[in-house]
Amino acid sequence: MGLPAFRVSQLIHWMYERNAVSIDDITEFSKPLREKLKGFSYIGGVKIIKKTDSPDGTIKLLFGLEDGLSVEGVLIPDEYRLTLCVSSQVGCAMGCRFCLTATMGFIRNLRADEIAGQVTAVRRELNANANSEITNIVFMGMGEPLKNFNEVVKGINILTDYMGISKRRITLSTAGVVPELQKLYKEIPEVNLAVSLNATTDETRSALMPVNNKYNIGALLRACGRLPISPRRRITFGYVLIKGVNDTQADARRLIALLKGLSAKVNLIPFNEYDTAKFEPPDEKTVLEFQQILVDRHVTAFIRKSKGRGIYAACGQLKTCHETDN
Ligand code: SF4
Repeated sequence: MGLPAFRVSQLIHWMYERNAVSIDDITEFSKPLREKLKGFSYIGGVKIIKKTDSPDGTIKLLFGLEDGLSVEGVLIPDEYRLTLCVSSQVGCAMGCRFCLTATMGFIRNLRADEIAGQVTAVRRELNANANSEITNIVFMGMGEPLKNFNEVVKGINILTDYMGISKRRITLSTAGVVPELQKLYKEIPEVNLAVSLNATTDETRSALMPVNNKYNIGALLRACGRLPISPRRRITFGYVLIKGVNDTQADARRLIALLKGLSAKVNLIPFNEYDTAKFEPPDEKTVLEFQQILVDRHVTAFIRKSKGRGIYAACGQLKTCHETDN
């Protein structure tokens, strides 16, 4: 358009910091300039189409995309942080047996702008309602982020370069797509990594997570061990505890052995039941004993309970509920 370069900075500022909904919002541009821009472009976006408050303060979100599809997210406040869990794909091809998203199958990858757009949509909502700021982003919603590598990396770059979110406050969770792990650390070594482990034998893990047939526990943990993680940082291993499947004391002891030598911490997540679920959570005593075995051997282990229920063990619940409502 023959405009000076600073107009680009202004446009980015209005889109990603002021969360403009339309070109008309960019009042820094003259009316004729706005009309000219509107002749061939618009500010697209992701919209929040449903919000569900949980008693623990967690807010489940359903994001509408321009093509009519939708993905889910979760906003998780705690004392010091406001974490937004975002999706990277519509549906998921990974087929984890404990996950509701898996039953939808894979529909499509999200584009980078749709990944960043989930954050913008929430920021617009927060500006309207409160003074809070999103401090952390986790890729634990629908989809396997490493199966949408390029758009996820581009999306993270939008979040960090234009939206003021530090890479160190971004966590990417994977079911264990081994070849992409090294690639991720080459592109963005600062992001935090969460690995969904969920079993201590290949037999059980393959039964729960088909990805294990391709990249088994040994291959996954060797790949984790080769990552250039700085000594002060740790990989988070997610472990969904399922009654009678992976919750024995022998599992806890095997988990300690598997994580030996790795800079690791463990998130234990009692399975969250949903209507058609084939699994059950263990009782509280079993969960606490499992944790204690890890802690006694100096493995940092947290129990993640109700917060972000839709995120970890049964992602896809919100979307499925919404479709049932309609
Ligand atoms: S748990 Fe994650 S990777 Fe596995 S099917 Fe669900 S969304 Fe996909």
